Amino acid sequence: MVNMENQIVTLINVKKYFQIRRGIWGTIRRLPILYAKAVDGVSLAIYEGETLALVGESGSGKTTLGRLILKLIDVTEGYIFFKDILVNSLKGEELKSYRRNVQIIFQDPYGTLDPRYTIGGALKEPLIIHKIAKSSTERMEIVSKILEEVKLVPPDEFMRRFPHQLSGGQRQRVAIAKALILNPKFIVADEPVSMLDVSIRAEILELMKSLKEKFNLTYLYITHDLSTARYIANRIAIMYLGKIVEIGPAGQVIDDPFHPYTQALIAAVPEPNPENKFRMRELKIIGEIPSSVFIPSGCRFHPRCPFAMEICKRVEPELIEIKPNHYVACHLYSGNKRYEDTINIPDKFSEIISIRSSKA
Ligand code: SF4
Repeated sequence: MVNMENQIVTLINVKKYFQIRRGIWGTIRRLPILYAKAVDGVSLAIYEGETLALVGESGSGKTTLGRLILKLIDVTEGYIFFKDILVNSLKGEELKSYRRNVQIIFQDPYGTLDPRYTIGGALKEPLIIHKIAKSSTERMEIVSKILEEVKLVPPDEFMRRFPHQLSGGQRQRVAIAKALILNPKFIVADEPVSMLDVSIRAEILELMKSLKEKFNLTYLYITHDLSTARYIANRIAIMYLGKIVEIGPAGQVIDDPFHPYTQALIAAVPEPNPENKFRMRELKIIGEIPSSVFIPSGCRFHPRCPFAMEICKRVEPELIEIKPNHYVACHLYSGNKRYEDTINIPDKFSEIISIRSSKA
């Protein structure tokens, strides 16, 4: 059940810039330092109980954003909150406790499971690190229960197997079990089905959906695939070159997209039925996503946009409300309500974060 009052994760103007190494000649010739702006000013509220899909092409910054929330990497600028905890400053035991609440499901389950460990051994590891369960028997009971939850039965048999003895779908079920075993509240699922056969994808997404309800989870579902986003998500955020350009209820974003980039992404989805309106909305965009080192001025989509106007080259559009809870960053539309103004900052931090006043 989504509660639009309760933000579980809040991002305020988050940026992540990576310095580009220019080598010895760059140093000798004193070339200016360059930065890849992977995430370039994202403000976002994720609500308890929802699945928010973050959709974009490769290079859009969506995976970097997921890693920032997990604090696998640090922000360059901005603030990330988990409920009313400031994630930026977490260290030591506090960070360890945060990691119990926030887990990740990776794209490649094979890469995240140590081939030398049995499935039982791999699932026991986080319980040992976080000192959960008093005895080995108790740990094995927890492992057995979680294997049942992800439908790897009989659990005793799967516990003894090694990763190479499982199918791709079974390995992804183990990855989901590993993410769930610490009883987290929030899960970043980074392209969790993109490496699986199409026939297995629906099963895994269905499993994720049912586990979300059962354990009252919140998901950030990162993908480049709009069809799976539509299937699993309550809301969809479209990311382009480090920024969110459209965000709204999943059905509305897919069926009635406003941003030319979203329209182009949807037009690119193969549609077997020629009567379908997706096909009629066909829109061609020019070229490829530019480098995040040299981000175009104004609207960063303008060099590729078939509707670009003079203002688009100069002024960066803000996310504004076009329909209830549906926000778009594009000069083709006007509105009064800014998305940033809908995000609550935890009381104890609101004074030090002056995002609104600095933009007034
Ligand atoms: Fe296209 Fe201008 Fe809208 Fe950007 S702001 S998407 S360039 S019309």
